Amino acid sequence: MPLPRPNVRAPAFLDARAPSLRRVRRIVQAFPTQDGSAHVLIEGRRLVNFCGNDYLGLARDPRLAAALRGASSECGVGAGASHLVSGHGREHQALEEELAAFTGCERALLFSTGYMANLAAITSLAGRGDLVLLDRFSHASLIDAALLSRARLRRYAHRDWGAVERALERQRGAAAGEAAGAAPARLIATDGVFSMDGDLAPLPQLAAAAHARGAWLIVDDAHGLGVIGAQGRGTLEHFGLSREVGVLVGTLGKAFGTFGAFIAGSAELIERLIQQARTYIYTTALPQPIAAATRASLAIAQRESWRRERVLALTGRFRAAAAAAGIPLLESATPIQPVVLGTPEAAVAASRALEQAGLWVAAIRPPTVPRDSSRLRVTLSAAHTEDEVDRLVAALAQILAAQARA
Ligand SMILES: *Cc1c(COP(=O)(O)O)cnc(C)c1O
Repeated sequence: MPLPRPNVRAPAFLDARAPSLRRVRRIVQAFPTQDGSAHVLIEGRRLVNFCGNDYLGLARDPRLAAALRGASSECGVGAGASHLVSGHGREHQALEEELAAFTGCERALLFSTGYMANLAAITSLAGRGDLVLLDRFSHASLIDAALLSRARLRRYAHRDWGAVERALERQRGAAAGEAAGAAPARLIATDGVFSMDGDLAPLPQLAAAAHARGAWLIVDDAHGLGVIGAQGRGTLEHFGLSREVGVLVGTLGKAFGTFGAFIAGSAELIERLIQQARTYIYTTALPQPIAAATRASLAIAQRESWRRERVLALTGRFRAAAAAAGIPLLESATPIQPVVLGTPEAAVAASRALEQAGLWVAAIRPPTVPRDSSRLRVTLSAAHTEDEVDRLVAALAQILAAQARA
C-alpha cells in the first residue's frame, strides 16, 4: 500500500515560478595550481574564487597539509569517540591551550563546528524563563540556538545597542516584581563581524550594557578572528576589549583555513560547557589531524602578519576602485564587501555574468538576506592578486551598467 502523501504546500524553493531562489551546488573539480592562488576549476573552467572565507589564503597551504598527514600517521584519522569518553587527544589539548593563549582567555574548548559551538553557548547559559537578545542580522546558528534554549527571544534592530539597554532595563523591572528565586539569566549574542554585511557590532556599547545589567555577552567572531585587530585577534582586539566579553566563539574553517570551532572564556565557563553542553558531550570529537593542521595554521597566521595586511590592502583597493566606478558599497572595512543589487533575479544574473568573465561570486538571496537586499557577497583573500581585484571591479561596473540600462 502506498504511504499517504502529506498535503503540504510546496515551499518557495520548489516553486517553478521562483527559479532565482532555487539553490544549486557547484562542484569544485580541482584546484588547478598549487601556487597559493584562489583559482578553482568548475565545469572545466578556471575561475577566481571571490566568495570563500579563506581570508588569509591558508586553506591550501602545503604546511597545513603536511601537519595533517603527519598527525594522521601518528593518531589515525577518526577520534573514535566523544571528548568525554575516549576521543580527547593530545592534539586537541594542545590546540585548546594555544587558542586560549591566542584569545587571551583562561581556557578554550573545541567544537566540531561553529554551528554547534553557538548551540552550546546559548543553551548552556539560558533556559526557560530567561531572555536572549539577538541582533536582527545575527548568524542563523545563533537564532537556532536561542530557539532551542526555550528562552524568550527578542531580536533587536541591526546594531541598535540602545534597544538592548532598554530591553534589559524593562526585563529587570519585570524580574523585581517576580517572586523570590534566582533572577532570570539575560544574554546578548551578536556576530563580531556580520557575515553577510561585513560591518562590526557595537561591542563597546554592548559590553557596557551587559556589564551594567549583569547580562552575558556572547560574541561570535567567525569573520573577525585572524583578520582584524592589530595582531589578528579579532573584533575584541579591534575595540580594545577582552575580559568585558564573557563568551567568545571562534570558527576554524574561515581565516584559519581548516575546520572546527571553539569557545573561549573563563575557566568556570569552560567547565560549565564541558558538563552541560549537549553539542559537546554527545558528538564525536573532531579528527586529531584537523586539530594538528589548525595548530600549524594558527602559528602561521600569527607569524606571517603580511597575510592579514595583504587581505586588508586588497580590501582597500577593491573599495577605492569600486567607489571610483560608481559601484554601491556598504559600510564595511573587512574583507566581506557586499554589492547589494535588490532583487534575487538581478543578483543571480550578475553572478552568471561574472562567471562568464572567469570570476566566481555567489548570489546571496532570501531567506539568508531580506528579498530587496539580495546581493553579491564579494570576499577578498590574501590569495588574490591586485590584477584579479581590478578585473572584478571592471566586470562588476560593466554588469551593473548593463542592468541599469535594461
Ligand atoms: C560560518 C559561521 C558560523 C558557523 O561556523 P561553522 O564552523 O561553519 O559551522 C557561525 N557563525 C558565523 C557568524 C559564521 O559566519
